[in-house]
Amino acid sequence: MFQADKYELYVKKIKNGTVIDHISAGYALDVLKILNITGKESNTVGVVMNVQSKNIEKKDMVKIEGRELKPEEVDKIALISPNATINIIREYGVIDKKKVNLPKDIKGIVECGNPSCISNSKEPVRSIFHVQIVEPIQLRCHYCNRTMERKDILKQF
Ligand SMILES: [Zn+2]
Repeated sequence: MFQADKYELYVKKIKNGTVIDHISAGYALDVLKILNITGKESNTVGVVMNVQSKNIEKKDMVKIEGRELKPEEVDKIALISPNATINIIREYGVIDKKKVNLPKDIKGIVECGNPSCISNSKEPVRSIFHVQIVEPIQLRCHYCNRTMERKDILKQF
């Protein structure tokens, strides 16, 4: 079991599900977008924004009852919030906690914004981007050098 932080009190504990913590401040709504959470679902979703944290200045947090994240969802969160942690909750306790991983090269998650890029042609070429700046994210296409920023990436999610 991991120590629950004081700020957890902002939102009622969830019984089973996922807590995404250490989201860069102001990005919680982008995380909800990545997860296709609109608020029309029946499960409980808690969102806390701009809370003071020990490690980083301010952060956001999202708690989702009854949901575990798919690996591709975690990879997308890493793109917009490289310090986020994913906590799996069972019976009100954290049973697993891991940091998202932002690799140096992003393969297949983001499409290149250049329509004539080979990765957008009919050829079976998977998109590859190199991470130029971690936060806010900036990617450079391996094939055509087009840069993709956070807002360009979020449009695709
Ligand atoms: Zn490209």
